[in-house]
Amino acid sequence: MNWYQLTLDELFKKLRSNQFGLTTKEAALRMQHYGLNEIHEQKKCPPHIMFLNQFRDFMIIVLILSATIAGFFGDIIDTFIILLIVLINAIIGFVQEYKAEKAMEALNRMAAIHAVVIRNRIPTTLIATDIVPGDVVLLEAGNVVPADLRIVENHQLKVDEASLTGESIAVEKDSAPIGEESIALGDRKNIAFKGTNVVNGRGKGIVVATGMNTELGKIASLMTGDEVKTPLQKRLAVFGKNLAMIVLAICTIVFTVGLIRGEKPLLMLLTSISLAVAAIPEALPAVVTIALAIGAKKMVRQNALVRKLPAVETLGSVTYICSDKTGTLTQNKMIVEEVYIDGTNFYKKDALKETLNEKEKLIFMAMALSNDVSDYVGSRPIGDSTEIALLEMARAQGFNKNELEQLFPRVAEIPFDPERKCMTTIHKFNGEYISFTKGALDVLLQKTIGLTNEEKEKLLQTSQRMAADGLRVLAFFIKKTDKLPFPILHEKIESELTILGTAGLFDPPRQEVKQAIDECKTAGIKPVMITGDHPLTAYSIAKRLGIIESEDDKVFTGVELTAKSLQEFEEKVDHIKVYARVSPEQKLKIVKVLQNRGQFVAMTGDGVNDAPSLKKADIGIAMGINGTDVSKEAAHLILLDDNFATIVKAVKSGRRIFDNIRKFIKYTMTSNSGEIWTIFLAPLLGLPLPLLPVHILWINLVTDGLPGLALAAEPAEKGIMKRPPRPPNENIFAKGLGTHILWVGILMGSITIISQALEIRLNNPNWQTMVFTVLCLSQIGHVLAIRSETQSFFSQGPLSNKPLLGAAILTFILQLCTIYIPFLNTVFKTAPLSLHDLFITIGLSSVVFVAVEFEKIFKRALKNRAWGSGMLSANENI
Ligand code: ATP
Repeated sequence: MNWYQLTLDELFKKLRSNQFGLTTKEAALRMQHYGLNEIHEQKKCPPHIMFLNQFRDFMIIVLILSATIAGFFGDIIDTFIILLIVLINAIIGFVQEYKAEKAMEALNRMAAIHAVVIRNRIPTTLIATDIVPGDVVLLEAGNVVPADLRIVENHQLKVDEASLTGESIAVEKDSAPIGEESIALGDRKNIAFKGTNVVNGRGKGIVVATGMNTELGKIASLMTGDEVKTPLQKRLAVFGKNLAMIVLAICTIVFTVGLIRGEKPLLMLLTSISLAVAAIPEALPAVVTIALAIGAKKMVRQNALVRKLPAVETLGSVTYICSDKTGTLTQNKMIVEEVYIDGTNFYKKDALKETLNEKEKLIFMAMALSNDVSDYVGSRPIGDSTEIALLEMARAQGFNKNELEQLFPRVAEIPFDPERKCMTTIHKFNGEYISFTKGALDVLLQKTIGLTNEEKEKLLQTSQRMAADGLRVLAFFIKKTDKLPFPILHEKIESELTILGTAGLFDPPRQEVKQAIDECKTAGIKPVMITGDHPLTAYSIAKRLGIIESEDDKVFTGVELTAKSLQEFEEKVDHIKVYARVSPEQKLKIVKVLQNRGQFVAMTGDGVNDAPSLKKADIGIAMGINGTDVSKEAAHLILLDDNFATIVKAVKSGRRIFDNIRKFIKYTMTSNSGEIWTIFLAPLLGLPLPLLPVHILWINLVTDGLPGLALAAEPAEKGIMKRPPRPPNENIFAKGLGTHILWVGILMGSITIISQALEIRLNNPNWQTMVFTVLCLSQIGHVLAIRSETQSFFSQGPLSNKPLLGAAILTFILQLCTIYIPFLNTVFKTAPLSLHDLFITIGLSSVVFVAVEFEKIFKRALKNRAWGSGMLSANENI
């Protein structure tokens, strides 16, 4: 049996449902039978495989093998300890990876699609996974179809099925049964398929299949859950491979030199392999994912939901934020402030319903009837804020939408479209048809009849005055016909209109936005407004918010945008702060031109037509509350509160997370470089092997593990939003990172070797314990010092990153354990140090901390000099 062949009666019978949908109880029963409406993509990696993957690294396998071989020939305790350290390392790696995966799952769940379903006869918003066969779903432009639906009602319903059929032209849906037996998906005009996008109109459908039974479910096995790599991860992976070669070469030299010097081959083998394991930064790309995923999870608390992980990394590079006005910069709480009928402000008349004249009645009827807000008695209206304001205005004058619709049933409609900037509903009354059109006055005035030029001029003047006061101006029109044209085309219906009047709606700017805009400017980011509204309305709001500050800041309209060539537009683009009367398609042109100019663009959008520009933008941002599902699917980031200020917070978080990743790289790479220098240089300087394999692995474990990870908790650097955005292609080792790794690594290695040489000369039998401890503690000193790029550790406050301080103290205690617990002395071949030796060790280990603090003093001095000589602009930072 094919769903598309059934009549509606057969369909309802078969699905044991009706136009009013299911009850909650029935839906719960069906859920038990059919299960969740979800697509199971590629199999997830189960935890035990994720754990085993920790050992997949080539060098780790070599280490395990060599340790086992060494165990047969020599010290079994050594082998055991090496294997234990490898195991602990794997556990840490697994826990982190698992946490990151859970964080990503939580983010995905939050970004889940919702749908409006009729349950218990009331339209209810549900998570799409809760839908069951037999549910009745309401569809409107911007929805992603949540399950396979047989259409039962349609109003110019068009669905883009490209994701399923590859056909890029939207398909018009209807509810009529199809006679043929087997037809292609693309021809099933009365079925809307899960995962496709509603691009126009609205409709109602009954669920015929959910989850894996849908057409999308059937092809789910073809979908690949390709892991997206961030630019930084890609670069680090390449870098890691190159570095691995260098480390392996060094290890070979260490091994050969050791043999020549007469060391035991097995010991040399283990030493060089341990060094390779410790120094090859194979985990760096994974650590970046972990830092990004966990950072993204934290960003949810600030109402920024990350959909695509690379966005966290690239947020810090944003140079332009192109924001919608309504709801993002403003509160989206429209109120009607003025109503003009025949040139007079209606409010001033203080009129009662009974005393209203014909035209006055009609304009309020238009407000109520030409309106798509669901006005359910006893509940707050839900829908577009402009429409809610008009509905409430009509209600206040005694015009109730539901009552009116009984008298004037809606027989057809042409939905609102930001391109046309208007909408029309057609109602039947006394055998004739009345259509109400409402929309932008400047657009519709050309389609008006019965007005003299003078009257038109007067209308325009009033509306311009309202717009200059920051009001959105809507005009209302009526048209009567005795016959309905077929097909219903807007060109025919929205012509020869008679004006009823205009209304001015105010949407107050969000309070916190002004400060966020100031913050953008100090952070080197240009905030720009893009709106479908009138240029004067847009200008007024932009000025209040500080987006427009001077004569140089220009407003550009959609018409100019079309008229200008790309080159002309590019020449002006730097000065344009407001784009008004812009249609969603034109946003794409704006992104392209800005990107051509080398800008890194974040762009907001909420409508279905915004999807292309959101995809094209470097960071596409959708609205969590008022955004369509289609825009959310296209976006990198979703604002859960639709608030511009949240974008700025997200940029700040992005910068902080990136800084901390950089600090992590700085820390581990310097430590690795210190270890390499130590092991490599000592034999070349005629000294014995400074460290045993267990020492190297232990240092790698305790220092890279906890302290490194605690760097992720580092708060934002002072002045993080006072420096310019990071160029997106900037090398991670730029701005002194590479140099730091090199010189501090050499310093760390030198201090360790000096302590070795010194203590050997003094015939101290415990020299190796001291060398082992100096290298370990130097790394702890280093991590404390690099918490900030420029600020001193003390002015930052030791307690401002408690996890890191805790990790440093714990590592210190663990190291003392290896020195003073007799059992561990056997394991690590260490000896208890005298107090004198311990102080010397701690003193030597502090050198790195002090040196890095001096580096920061030097950086601060350089910065101040640059400020003094005006080399840096007010926004710049070193
Ligand atoms: P922004 O882009 O700043 O968020 P917006 O998205 O609200 O603004 P649009 O929705 O594209 O802008 O509206 C553009 C114009 O269309 C408005 O200025 C108004 O004249 C008209 N308009 C907006 N909403 C409606 C509606 N519900 N019915 C009829 N016309 C509307």
